[in-house]
Amino acid sequence: MDSNPIIGRFAPTPSGPLHFGSLVTAVASYCHARSQQGKWLLRMEDVDTPRNVKGASDDILFTLEAFGFQWDAVVEYQSHQFDHYQRVLESLIERCICYACECSRRTLREANALQGPLGLIYPGFCRDKRLNKNGLSIRVNTGDCCINFVDQVYGHIQFNLSRQLGDFVVKRADGIYAYHLAVVVDDERQGINQIVRGADLLEASCLHLYLQQLLGYRQPQYLHIPLVKNALGDKLSKQTGAEALDHSCKNGLLTKALAVLGQQVDTEMEGASSTEILNVAIQNWEPDNISLPALKKT
Ligand code: GLU
Repeated sequence: MDSNPIIGRFAPTPSGPLHFGSLVTAVASYCHARSQQGKWLLRMEDVDTPRNVKGASDDILFTLEAFGFQWDAVVEYQSHQFDHYQRVLESLIERCICYACECSRRTLREANALQGPLGLIYPGFCRDKRLNKNGLSIRVNTGDCCINFVDQVYGHIQFNLSRQLGDFVVKRADGIYAYHLAVVVDDERQGINQIVRGADLLEASCLHLYLQQLLGYRQPQYLHIPLVKNALGDKLSKQTGAEALDHSCKNGLLTKALAVLGQQVDTEMEGASSTEILNVAIQNWEPDNISLPALKKT
């Protein structure tokens, strides 16, 4: 058995209040870590500062507390970690793993770049141009690397990075560090060894594994949960108008989140506190019961 204690995390983006899809992710990451006597940390992913909504971080923390979650360390904010990201970026640049890129999205569309699961697949136009970095985005050269990993729900995942996902941006032309860089640096810094998050990030995990390998970081375990969709089949998100969690229905929403995750739900818990509901959920937690949408099964 692995002697390292489990350290899981929940990492919301404060671009609005938590909705039901985020609650499902929070419940899954909490129960998965706690059922293995692990720690559970909170990180505000506010790296993309123009997207942050004033008051959203505090609102998220207040909501998590009201829904019975207890975290183990002070909350970290990505907007306070820019020095770390810059240091890692410079080390990648020094090793010639990154390059400056002048291509706009329009350039890529006009060049008929193929659509991949994470957007247009970058055709590598600037890979060998040795452009000056000032005011340009910085991409990671993915070479011809293939990444394989086993997700605890989705099974064996394999991608050829340059062909299927493309060289990816780690710092944008407007100076903002990209999520892919920030998440890898933070998970390592915080000692995270268990990542539970939505399946919309399944392919992104290959980019993260690639960066972890380049940087000599430890590889966490991954468990991606199927996305919660609305009646139109769209992922529940702020963009698709998902409603903020209603604090007057805490127990009902927690029970519904557990049901979505295929977990046994105790119907005799009327009058219980949210913390009690979560504690029973931790005792009964069965990640094998999380079921996949048929199409994604490997
Ligand atoms: N910040 C991301 C989100 O709110 C989650 C990223 C992650 O868990 O790695 O969707």
